[in-house]
Amino acid sequence: MALFGIFGSHTVEMCPLNNKTSAMTMVQMAEKTADAENNHSNYGINKIIGRYHSALEHKFIWVVDAESAHQLEKFLIDIGSAKFNSSKIVPLINFEEIVRKGAAELQK
Ligand SMILES: [Zn+2]
Repeated sequence: MALFGIFGSHTVEMCPLNNKTSAMTMVQMAEKTADAENNHSNYGINKIIGRYHSALEHKFIWVVDAESAHQLEKFLIDIGSAKFNSSKIVPLINFEEIVRKGAAELQK
């Protein structure tokens, strides 16, 4: 299990709320990623844990359990996200893990 955050953004002009082409791409993205919600996908995605969007900031974060950032990059291109979103893929750890590391530092 490796957690990644996909931090994305787009311009107001390219927002699916304002742009029919982006809206169509977004609906297709939902269809193309349905299998990755709960099942292992062809892109090494074990599970899409959550997808959250800030409509007025035109930013989003998706949290995924996946094998590699390179496969996620290909995933974002193939599903159409890269047509109107800039994205940054960041390795994540959960809060309990960072607390454990912090507690270990206190023991030194
Ligand atoms: Zn938007």
